[in-house]
Amino acid sequence: MDYALQTRNLAKNFGGFTATNNVSLNVEAGARHALIGPNGAGKTTLINLLTGFLEPTAGHVILQGEDVTRLGQHQRVKRGLARTFQINRLFADLTVLESVTMAVNERLGLGARFWKPVGAHGQAVEEAVALLDSLRLLDVAHEKTRSLAYGKQRLIEIALALAMKPRVLLLDEPAAGVPTTESRELFESIAALPRDVTILLIEHDMDLVFRFADRISVLVGGALLTHGTPEVIANDPKVREVYLGE
Ligand code: ADP
Repeated sequence: MDYALQTRNLAKNFGGFTATNNVSLNVEAGARHALIGPNGAGKTTLINLLTGFLEPTAGHVILQGEDVTRLGQHQRVKRGLARTFQINRLFADLTVLESVTMAVNERLGLGARFWKPVGAHGQAVEEAVALLDSLRLLDVAHEKTRSLAYGKQRLIEIALALAMKPRVLLLDEPAAGVPTTESRELFESIAALPRDVTILLIEHDMDLVFRFADRISVLVGGALLTHGTPEVIANDPKVREVYLGE
């Protein structure tokens, strides 16, 4: 099996409290993998261990077969791991195209401030245009990000992450705070992303999870309860009991 991202016996203690308990997660290359679990289950902590924002107490993080446990966030991004955040991190005064071009420039090492389309920066603009096209965002390319509907803003955050050309994209509640009609549209765009990007998603809205994911891992009390296809998870009595409260 070809795995894009794995953890082996990953653990994180905060003082005497175990937030991540011996988690061995396998995310297959090309998967749309969702991580679910009740509040306090340890989803955010696990994502932070994957990105390198937090150091584990024990265990390993393996990205595309390489042990990256000791690498910092930046080095993991360079190796193809990108994330979006629950909070809005857009540059409100820039247009959509300027923002995405800036992110491409950053990846190319051209400096985040030099978004103006001259020389090598022209290539970055072309790449940004292609990216916006693939996300069906070209029609808003010249609008300020702050003027857009919230669901579109979240999609632009995803475009910024994709500008890093990741192999694995971590999406931390992309639909948080997005109205239902808009969140459907947002998830259609995410679902249409090419399969060469593996996606690990944290999402509270079970309706969206079951529409989108082809694999689901259930986290409870910091530990993996079970994992499987949406069909298996939906019919698992353990999951219904601890997660759905049945
Ligand atoms: P989830 O994202 O599933 O809601 P979290 O990963 O945010 O869960 O939190 C898991 C548990 O770890 C919670 O009980 C939380 O209070 C605790 N926790 C998270 N971060 C810290 C921290 N920095 N210090 C102490 N406890 C923490």
